[in-house]
Amino acid sequence: MLLFGTAGIPASTKTNGDTVAGLKRIAELGLGGMEIEFVRGVYLKDNMVPPVAYVGKKLGLKLSCHAPYYLNLNHADEVRRRQAGGVLHHAAGTAARAGARTIVFHAGYYLKGSPETVYDAIKAEMEVVLGKLLDEGTEITLRPELAGKISQFGNLAEILKLSRELPGVAPAIDFAHLHASTGRYNSYPEFAEVLNRVGEALGRESLDDLHLHVSGIEYAKTGERRHLNLAESDFRYDELLQALADVKAGGLLICESPNIEEDTLLLQRTYLDLSPRT
Ligand SMILES: [Zn+2]
Repeated sequence: MLLFGTAGIPASTKTNGDTVAGLKRIAELGLGGMEIEFVRGVYLKDNMVPPVAYVGKKLGLKLSCHAPYYLNLNHADEVRRRQAGGVLHHAAGTAARAGARTIVFHAGYYLKGSPETVYDAIKAEMEVVLGKLLDEGTEITLRPELAGKISQFGNLAEILKLSRELPGVAPAIDFAHLHASTGRYNSYPEFAEVLNRVGEALGRESLDDLHLHVSGIEYAKTGERRHLNLAESDFRYDELLQALADVKAGGLLICESPNIEEDTLLLQRTYLDLSPRT
């Protein structure tokens, strides 16, 4: 089953910035989950983590977390690279204790490195983080996100390769980013092709447990500029939803539009009205 959730606390939540209230609002809206945004830092204080896990579970919501934007596992300086791994490890541990089974992160920037060198550096740093999580018995999937800017590491081939080579890693497929970074991937056959590539690389189970980001997007030659509401963008979300329905995709689709829950509800409504064509 594919569930729909917001990137962060819904705007219509009465108590501003309150994650528990946000989860309750998600349930009231009839949505299936939420991505907790640690993008500017791991903001949940230790005493707030158990209540988030408790309420999320009680309401039957599927939770994910987004790690801080500022980490770069390809930092030129080794100490800073280790620190970035530490930030990811801390975010992943907190996410797991809060009841999330997925931590999404932007792996890093290419800087001056060749794609191959950067791939190896990022993979090595992820292995360190995975090793720590395994030692502690923390159950969470690390999901490198498909990048929106061409200066950022993480095209589809790269994140599929990481997912294939490292246990505990799966892709976070951001369809807005894919569209923005390539200028393509905005039609049913192209969306179906992506899903097909995921299934071929990682097996049918991966299609049953996808983690997706969707929003409208403004872009230039260098890729992503900013997120837009779907209605203001050229993104053909109905064709994406049809492709997802046709492969009987499961998992969590997080909507990152500026209007937060409005577009998430639009996507969920549109999806529920579709039926598989195949
Ligand atoms: Zn992201």
